Amino acid sequence: MLSENLEAIRGVGKTRREQLNKLGVETVEDLLCYMPRTYHDLTDLRTVREMEAGTPWFGVLTVLTTPKVQYVKRNFSLIRVKAGDETGNVYLCWYNQPYMAQNLTEGESYYIYGKPEYYRGEIRLNSLMVEKLSEGEGARLLPVYRSTKGLSQGVFRKLLKNTFERYGDALTFPLPEDFTNKYRLLPLEDAYYGAHFPVDHTQKDESIRTISFFEVLLLKTFLARSKAMEEGKAVSLNLGQAAHDAFLAQLAFTPTGAQQRAMAAIRGGIQSTAPYEALLQGDVGSGKTVVAFYALYAAVLGGTQGALMAPTEILCRQHYESAKKFFEPFNIKVGMIVSGMRKKERDALLKQVETGEVQILIGTHAMIQKDVQFHELGLAVADEQHRFGVRQRAVLQQKGRAPHFIVMSATPIPRTLALIVYGDLDIIVMDELPGGRRPIRTHLVPTHKEEGLLGFITGQAELGNRIYYVCPLIEEGESEQVSVKAAYERLSHQLPNVKMAMLHGRMAQKDKEAVMEAFSTGDVQMLVSTTVIEVGIDVKTATVMVIDGADRFGLAQLHQLRGRVGRGDQQSYCFLLNRSKSEAPRLMDFCSTTDGFAIARMDLKNRGPGALLGQWQSGKGDLFFMNFAMDAHLLEDVLTAYDDIFIKNRYGEELQLRLIARAKNKYRSLLNEITLN
Ligand code: ADP
Ligand code: MG
Repeated sequence: MLSENLEAIRGVGKTRREQLNKLGVETVEDLLCYMPRTYHDLTDLRTVREMEAGTPWFGVLTVLTTPKVQYVKRNFSLIRVKAGDETGNVYLCWYNQPYMAQNLTEGESYYIYGKPEYYRGEIRLNSLMVEKLSEGEGARLLPVYRSTKGLSQGVFRKLLKNTFERYGDALTFPLPEDFTNKYRLLPLEDAYYGAHFPVDHTQKDESIRTISFFEVLLLKTFLARSKAMEEGKAVSLNLGQAAHDAFLAQLAFTPTGAQQRAMAAIRGGIQSTAPYEALLQGDVGSGKTVVAFYALYAAVLGGTQGALMAPTEILCRQHYESAKKFFEPFNIKVGMIVSGMRKKERDALLKQVETGEVQILIGTHAMIQKDVQFHELGLAVADEQHRFGVRQRAVLQQKGRAPHFIVMSATPIPRTLALIVYGDLDIIVMDELPGGRRPIRTHLVPTHKEEGLLGFITGQAELGNRIYYVCPLIEEGESEQVSVKAAYERLSHQLPNVKMAMLHGRMAQKDKEAVMEAFSTGDVQMLVSTTVIEVGIDVKTATVMVIDGADRFGLAQLHQLRGRVGRGDQQSYCFLLNRSKSEAPRLMDFCSTTDGFAIARMDLKNRGPGALLGQWQSGKGDLFFMNFAMDAHLLEDVLTAYDDIFIKNRYGEELQLRLIARAKNKYRSLLNEITLN
């Protein structure tokens, strides 16, 4: 029933179905579970007098003129309609949406939502949403859906009403009464209805809480692997004291306290015959690589193989180069696998991996391909784990009987969320940077000071230092000035004495490598690049990071980029070029701290939890529970509930099986998409 095609719904024909498909809605169930993006509070209407430029406004306005489409240019149309209430008049504007003229009638009143702006002495409302007053009858909250051209909010609601009448009850998922009481849950079908058609805030909030709880419980059910079944399967890795000391002796530096604690935790954990799993969280530059090497070393000395997976090829090669050098004195053979290798070379490598001759394999996602077989994979590490999907990790894990597993990330993840996404795992926090580092100085550069910045860059280049110049785009789009190609063009003229090169993802791999190589030797002093350099790259003489169009990046990403400099003992700098005024406060916050954990919290505040749980954008739209991912209480509750059901077996096997079935059904297709951002 729920999996029925949309055309089974009254009022849905081919056109509607196609519109809904565009939103990722394929089935009846998808539609019923398609959650509002937000709600308009009909009890909190504003007047024209209360409008503030730049602040979203919601209220009731009467249309005062006949809506007409004006063609300003051949491809540019404008609708400008006067509307007002008893406190004043404004203009409603639509650009290139001629069909909107039919949706408005002179003399009628509408709910209007938009952002007021001053334009040539008048107040204009742009990016509007318009609703007939009748839509709000009897309701206090009006849900707003992410929609697509031709599918109005009113139509959306009508469709949902129809669909609920006929199919709503099928959403039910019976739960034991003491369970729903304990966790304060509504019947699921009521919760969905209440989220779409709430009478008040309380009903909306409780409905959303129930849905979130249920979704997270299903996710946890889906991702949880039975630890008990793997007990005794992992190889116990005992790193003796002499071997431990030999590792440390090989390092060019003394490990920080945090690194030592991390190594100790891992050394202890991997002695177990149940697979040890840990999330190693350490800010950019905290020195996670060494800890990864330590774990790989322990795997090899324990007679097994180690694997290290990196999210980009550049990072992978860098790890490979340093691992090869580092492990050489130990006589440990390191191999590398990336995509696009020559067949002969690849076959030879795979053979060595299979026989165990290659003891440490470093690779990109090419490592998880089917034909990569290990002799005995004892331990795997995923670097910058937030870049990998859950599936990739699962596949890598299946390459051994039950390898110990360490995931590393510079993005702090709340404990509860980690427990849900990764299952039961050890969380190791490295909260210390190697000594002698000077904090990077970060500045927001106003347009009139850009020339000064160019002078500074020249100065640094003369000192033999390297400069990164990062842009958000590769090529110029319509009105973009912040592309790699445009910046390169401009800067080559402005800085004739600085040797520069471009680097971006559309270049051939060997060109990218050549450029990186030239950058580390100094043949190239300045790299004009996209964010391909974002993760993990380590060039110690790089002292300047310029980020053009900084407003387009999230703070966590800016932090990653900034972490590319300040890796040696020289003072380093990060300059932000802001191209959008409204982003200034956020960027100022960023300039004020170098603490990655504080920055992650700011990001959460600014962008919401979506910043944290990234790419859920499969066709099905954002996972709704993301909005609650930061609700630690809810997550705790889910973990307890999961324990009650699956570990303590309080409610019997029938419920377990039903949950597993529903979870599989819901998440199977999403598995690829699950990554942490
Ligand atoms: P991240 O945690 O961001 O992956 P890396 O492992 O790339 O950090 O380390 C950053 C830099 O710091 C590297 O150049 C590394 O050699 C150096 N480093 C790591 N640990 C120490 C230490 N204890 N003392 C001095 N330098 C260190
Ligand atoms: Mg790293």
